[in-house]
Amino acid sequence: MRYAVCSDIHGNLEALSAVCASAEVEGAESLIFLGDAVGYGADPGPALDRVKSEADVSVIGNHDYVAAGMEQPIDFSPDAREAVLWTRERLSREQREYLTGLDAVAVVEDFTAVHATPLDPLAWEYLSSQWEAEINFPSFETRLCFVGHTHLPAVYWEDSRGRTGTERPGLISLQNGHRYIINVGSVGQPRDGDPRACYAMYDTGRGTVDFFRVDYDVASAQDKILKEGLPTHLARRLAQGI
Ligand code: ZN
Repeated sequence: MRYAVCSDIHGNLEALSAVCASAEVEGAESLIFLGDAVGYGADPGPALDRVKSEADVSVIGNHDYVAAGMEQPIDFSPDAREAVLWTRERLSREQREYLTGLDAVAVVEDFTAVHATPLDPLAWEYLSSQWEAEINFPSFETRLCFVGHTHLPAVYWEDSRGRTGTERPGLISLQNGHRYIINVGSVGQPRDGDPRACYAMYDTGRGTVDFFRVDYDVASAQDKILKEGLPTHLARRLAQGI
């Protein structure tokens, strides 16, 4: 089975369309979405509808949570708060209900899917260091755990003796006896200096996880953000991948 695993679309329909097209070309048989369909970008409704129709499994992200009205944007930056409150006004009742109905954690075959951390999924903590990975390994049972939230692709492993390490995100051959936490990066707002949309492919037959970067129409996504009067920084950062 080939699973395309992606996260953090953030209302960027251009990036999502490019990722869906790439996943199809790469032979994905199932699409797994790790949350934050909305927030920041100018196409929250269309992006959410696309996720709803294409993803076999979806979990909820912190921006989805706030956009659905389940929480106020207390820990959000000013730009993020402005965009998520704008988003909340633009979602239909059906779209908000779809978000409200999403689980925070899903288990598929031998992997766990969660937006932020398996340790405390609705606390929206960041998992961005080996130490943070270490405290998260005991909190899921499966061989792999896919996460998003930081918008930074990353690979952490733990061997059978409890030793941990990291690997550069690329073509990863899964080792016997190792467990993994894999951050699949962001579709719609990458922050690792590479503006191309990011997703991962988990091939259960080959025992590999591979990362893909996909060009998309950044200018069009930027135009829509500016046209809607959303913070200009949200448009600018897309071209820089920050
Ligand atoms: Zn996000």
